Amino acid sequence: MSLIDSLKQNYQVVGATAPYPTPQNLRELRGLLRQACLNRSVHQDLPYYCNWYSEYLTKVHNDENRSMSKTRGKARRMWAEQSLVYQDLIQLLSELSTELPGRDWGRLEEATDSLFELVDELLEAVQEMQDWTVSEEPRCLKCGWNGATGHCPHCQVQVLKPVRTFATQVNSYVTLAPHQSVVFTNLLSVLEGERDVSVLKAPLQKLASVYQDSLRELESAQHLEIARTGQENIYDALAGVSQMLRVFEDSDAQHLEDGWSMIFQADRANLAAVEEVNSGAGAVAAAYEIIRDQISLSNE
Ligand SMILES: [Zn+2]
Repeated sequence: MSLIDSLKQNYQVVGATAPYPTPQNLRELRGLLRQACLNRSVHQDLPYYCNWYSEYLTKVHNDENRSMSKTRGKARRMWAEQSLVYQDLIQLLSELSTELPGRDWGRLEEATDSLFELVDELLEAVQEMQDWTVSEEPRCLKCGWNGATGHCPHCQVQVLKPVRTFATQVNSYVTLAPHQSVVFTNLLSVLEGERDVSVLKAPLQKLASVYQDSLRELESAQHLEIARTGQENIYDALAGVSQMLRVFEDSDAQHLEDGWSMIFQADRANLAAVEEVNSGAGAVAAAYEIIRDQISLSNE
């Protein structure tokens, strides 16, 4: 279940004893807490509900964090902020579940006020994330500016359609070869809105020419399986470069995300291919070197 669905639906709290009203969502829960403070009376089920929501939010947060922590750019920043709100909420609800029976009204009123603020913050953050990830409107990826001109006057970057679908199987915690590394570093800065998309053009063209060189060098080793596999993967990587370059046609940052994913997976496939073969001697060794050089740090 997506984060947004899980927050917008009404939760079904199990194990509650009637007739005290079961809070169907966080808004209702905070309403019950406010009521308890006003009445100076804590129903025996209320600490249970606080604990239930604390645990439920922990689960939702952990599920979302697995994929959202691997996103890039503005989406990742938005998630980082949202994650903090989650953690504060989880902590506060857990504290409330143990503090409620103590009936320290000053403290409980303060905690209830905090809960009102945190729930509003969470709902806003979720809405903001949803607006961002479904919108195809070009905007500054740093400040969100979406005025009439093609460049953000504040951040001096070309406006782009934000990434809507994240290739979360691709993470940044691998060592990249130098040309890929330049592309990736620039990609991150473009998706953050720190630099203009034009900084990607030359590195992408350079990477394409490196791939083309390797393809040519592998031509003479066509009789070897490792060479053929290497070429296939390099063709896939080149398709990824072309995909990324499409951003210059229609200003859609989704091409950057998709294309990088193709490059990354093609290189990873080549890495797996060279790890599988014994580098051996003669022609196999030569093909092995060509492919390995492209995906390892030895390629300068
Ligand atoms: Zn801007």
